[in-house]
Amino acid sequence: MSNEGYLPLESGFATLAIHAHQSPDQWNSGAVITPIVTASTYKLQSADYSTGFQYGRWGNPTRNNLEGCLAALDKGKHALVFATGCAATWSALTILKSGDHILCAADIYGGTHHLVDMVAQEKGVDLEFFDVNNLSSFEKMFKPTTKMVWIESPTNPLCKVVDVRKVAAISHKQPGVLVVMDNTFLTSYFSKPLALGIDIVMYSMTKYMNGHSDVIMGALVLNDDDVHARLRDIQQHGGAVPGPFDCYLALRGLKTLALRMKQHMKNGIEVAQYLKKHSLVEEVLHPGFPDHPGHEVLKKQCSGYCGMLAFKIKGAGMQEVSKFLKALKMIVYAGSLGGCDSLAESPALLSHKYLSKEERLEIGITDNLIRLSVGIEEAEDITKDIDQALKAAFV
Ligand SMILES: *Cc1c(COP(=O)(O)O)cnc(C)c1O
Repeated sequence: MSNEGYLPLESGFATLAIHAHQSPDQWNSGAVITPIVTASTYKLQSADYSTGFQYGRWGNPTRNNLEGCLAALDKGKHALVFATGCAATWSALTILKSGDHILCAADIYGGTHHLVDMVAQEKGVDLEFFDVNNLSSFEKMFKPTTKMVWIESPTNPLCKVVDVRKVAAISHKQPGVLVVMDNTFLTSYFSKPLALGIDIVMYSMTKYMNGHSDVIMGALVLNDDDVHARLRDIQQHGGAVPGPFDCYLALRGLKTLALRMKQHMKNGIEVAQYLKKHSLVEEVLHPGFPDHPGHEVLKKQCSGYCGMLAFKIKGAGMQEVSKFLKALKMIVYAGSLGGCDSLAESPALLSHKYLSKEERLEIGITDNLIRLSVGIEEAEDITKDIDQALKAAFV
């Protein structure tokens, strides 16, 4: 779907989010908002199928607008959307063949961890995990068969920051290595991985990108035409495509991405500063603090930070953590993140329970750690709720 004559692609972020690939001139009606096109099949425009749409799995007008907009937001050439973030990850991993070697950051989303393990075991892919804080040993792990490097930054739930430029530069010393980065936390608003040397950007659109806790979706954004053709084939024939209604919701969510991310950042900092001074809090993990180990790297490679933070309740065990979560009145005890609504969870009880206690402690996930996805309610209402729940945890 051409964008020509409608919007210069050097427009600012919020302008692109609202207008890129969403020209009213595409539709006979002049509809300002991309219509939800539900057709599963299309009248063919030419005998050789070469123009327009033909079948819903192959392409859909609502979906195409979303893909065009996503590519513009990351300043990339191509974007592909999938039914879930994990389907996007799975599709990227299917590029690997038996005998290929993948280097995967140890600290990644649990579902991604599970998927790379499955691909390694079932397809005979050679999988090794590496420590993102030890890039000199990472550099020595490359083999002639290394085909992919997978990173996620910042990490979940400890907010560790990966030096993305360095990982990409080290990886590209060897031709043919694709570097994939999960950019779900910072979104294209704060972080542009392609400009830092990343080959494929992955999103769980479920989180900040859609931002309203009402869609499950994934995306990949990239520049390379050949890799794009391969991924398009996987998308169209693997068939894990999102429906048109979800594509419409995601397009609507993107229109406020810039506004939402600014507010998530502001609220996140306010809540982090409040917690740092609280007598029942032992430690606050937020890369916005100058004493956070990832602070300098974050400043060099991103224009801001999202609403994710973690903190440790002073002197709390599993019982106090459970009481804290139960006592929350407005903040919801739930997995997931990145919506307008503030969410809290315990990595030891929920998101990272797939690790043994020893494995958790090794990476710094203590029993008293709480992960917060700071929403865009009034910051004062968020801190008030945390304060009363902290007090309730110890009565
Ligand atoms: C949620 C999430 C995923 C998986 O996405 P789904 O949309 O749940 O399939 C991948 N990476 C990160 C960082 C996530 O938070």
